[in-house]
Amino acid sequence: MPFKTLGLSDPLVQGILATGYTAPTEIQAQAIPAAVAGKDIIGCAQTGTGKTAAFVLPILNRLSLAKPPHSKSIKALILTPTRELAVQIEQAIIGYGRFMKFHTLAVYGGVSIENQIRTLKRGVDIVVATPGRLLDHLNRRSIDLRQIEVLVLDEADRMFDMGFINDVKKIVATTPQTRQTLLFSATVSPEVKSLTMGIQKNPVMIQVGKPRNPIETITQYIYTVRKDAKADLLLSMLTGDSKMDCVLVFSRTKHGADKISKRLERAGVRSIAIHSGRTQGQRQRALDGFKQSKYQVMVATDVAARGIDVDGISHVINFDVPAFAEDYVHRIGRTGRACATGDAITLVSPDEEKYLRQIEKFIGHKIKHEKCPEFTRSKPETTHPLAGEKPRSAAPRRDMTHKRRDTTHKDNNDKSKRFFGFRRKKAKR
Ligand code: AMP
Repeated sequence: MPFKTLGLSDPLVQGILATGYTAPTEIQAQAIPAAVAGKDIIGCAQTGTGKTAAFVLPILNRLSLAKPPHSKSIKALILTPTRELAVQIEQAIIGYGRFMKFHTLAVYGGVSIENQIRTLKRGVDIVVATPGRLLDHLNRRSIDLRQIEVLVLDEADRMFDMGFINDVKKIVATTPQTRQTLLFSATVSPEVKSLTMGIQKNPVMIQVGKPRNPIETITQYIYTVRKDAKADLLLSMLTGDSKMDCVLVFSRTKHGADKISKRLERAGVRSIAIHSGRTQGQRQRALDGFKQSKYQVMVATDVAARGIDVDGISHVINFDVPAFAEDYVHRIGRTGRACATGDAITLVSPDEEKYLRQIEKFIGHKIKHEKCPEFTRSKPETTHPLAGEKPRSAAPRRDMTHKRRDTTHKDNNDKSKRFFGFRRKKAKR
């Protein structure tokens, strides 16, 4: 089905084709005609299914059909939970609308508010915002949402998880009742449902794919591993498999993310960390560098788990098992996007097995277990020498690591060789 049949204007169809899309994805095919017809929508789609275009294209279509003279008022507001997502959506808007004339602005914290105020004064058609900074603008009266025609709540469930929901309600209250409201969420929880009842009118429910199940193009593995051997195992994987060229590693804590990234860098793996302890500039530079393949690995906390769209992430590795099953689905959804294939690997130490069981219950099936005995066996302990015997002790850590890797190489069965064996190459310098 070509984009033209969805009722989109010519300059917009040209912009979509110039982006490289030939046909709409399932969520786009279902949501765009309903949104173009002015209906409210609840879009429940798995991550990576193309939902950004599903709400951006109808907004741009509305702008392209509006009769001049155009007012300077804001006509569409997209609320999204993270700064990175705001930037990403703004870039998508600019890309799809490249043959149209309009102004868009991403409004998020961690950067100068003065520049945003100046741009808002000049007139903006579409604002993409995170809730906190947008409330700041509303309190300063530097933004006026009274002429909003379309309101989008992107990643609504995540906004709940991040505690933004009261901010979202306050913001929604400043927009006109006559607006069209499009809500997108990976999962429609009871909380999201009750929110939609208060702010939408007869919404059309669009469900793409089974809720909860990670997208089918992702192959999932777990490795049981000693906690203290996780870094060695990760390094072995990264340096032992040439297909691991664009890898997103998740750590539960900021400190952990920095530590893992530094360890990889020391071993010659090009790596960068991204988390909320970094300035917005550092976060954006990390993300841009990863997108441009400057880094083989980006180590992230869950701040990057939602929505971040980097083409061609080959592997997601959960260095820590996420404590919430939903986070697992969102983390691994960073690979396998737009029907590409991807691998998701989770390193599970004995104390994390309870989280793994919750995840398997949540997704409704067991995850394939790969074995790596050298990283699972407990460390040899120092034994007290018997009289007359030479002391036997564990080898120094550095040597152990070395030995472990070598034996792993020999021991591994065919399946795990995909990570350690066949094309073992030296870490890049
Ligand atoms: P999203 O779920 O909106 O983050 O989109 C996931 C990925 O799919 C992004 O890389 C988009 O550029 C890509 N994408 C969106 N729509 C299409 C389409 N119709 N054809 C091909 N790729 C698409």
